[in-house]
Amino acid sequence: MSLKAYDLTGRTAFLTGAASGIGRASALLLAEAGATVHCADRDAQGLHETAALVKESGGTAHVHPLDVSDRAQVDEAVAAAAQASGGRLDIMAAIAGIMHSSPVLETTDEDLDRVLNVNFKGVLYSCQAAARTMLEAATTTGTSPRGSIITMASGAVDTGGPGLLCYGAAKAAVVQLTKTLATEVGPHGIRVNAVAPGWIRTPMTHRHDAEAQTHTEGFMARRSPLGRVGEPDDVAHAVLHLASDASAFTTGQILRPNGGVAMPW
Ligand code: NAP
Repeated sequence: MSLKAYDLTGRTAFLTGAASGIGRASALLLAEAGATVHCADRDAQGLHETAALVKESGGTAHVHPLDVSDRAQVDEAVAAAAQASGGRLDIMAAIAGIMHSSPVLETTDEDLDRVLNVNFKGVLYSCQAAARTMLEAATTTGTSPRGSIITMASGAVDTGGPGLLCYGAAKAAVVQLTKTLATEVGPHGIRVNAVAPGWIRTPMTHRHDAEAQTHTEGFMARRSPLGRVGEPDDVAHAVLHLASDASAFTTGQILRPNGGVAMPW
């Protein structure tokens, strides 16, 4: 092993949520490591901005405007990405998500459905499309299956907190999906891991703090032994690690770039 384990030259990566924040930073970093990145998001303008940034730094990017909560759109985009790479898909990073906060007693069916549809079903559809494509690619090319699937959980899976019912339930379901799928596709050479970031400074958290007037950013910075909140690059490096051969013996795990805010046993 050497630093070459982080080299993604010749690999194809599909990232959801790639128009903004953590998804954009991850797309840029995977592209810098050599992967061809397929960037998916519902924000078409943001997607084109990400693709332009990738191209500016010498990488290759394709865009797929889509809604991750629509299974058919996800299947179609993943199939198109694989077809553009000779049937190959090496990396899926299911990052798209939305923030939601409401007290348990005020939570409606609509709140639950909206958050679960994006933050859980959107990740499930992305994982299913990726795993099927990775398995099919191996059958078609006669090679051993391989691949890395990365899901985006949250520090919410480690700590309770007011208003976190819908968001935390969806992220807990993502962790369960990650572990279950890891056991099912591991024997075929496919790894599945989750990233559970702490508070990261992105458009999502900026909007949340502004709308809810919670000042959570300052609170989270004070709770971290490092005395700060995270930046998108802090999470992108975790995504790169899990995407690359540097994590070849890691599956079914939760990687926590959270500044030490939570330290589970
Ligand atoms: P962000 O800047 O808002 O980026 C999320 C992207 O996902 C946005 O471009 C968003 O589009 C897109 N998206 C939302 N719903 C979608 C859908 N149905 N279909 C396709 N794209 C959709 O947020 P972020 O902070 O980078 O968060 C990325 C992921 O990390 C999320 O899963 C989030 O839960 C997780 N996370 C974030 C933090 C944090 O502190 N930032 C901490 C833990 C976990 P719109 O702008 O149109 O919504």
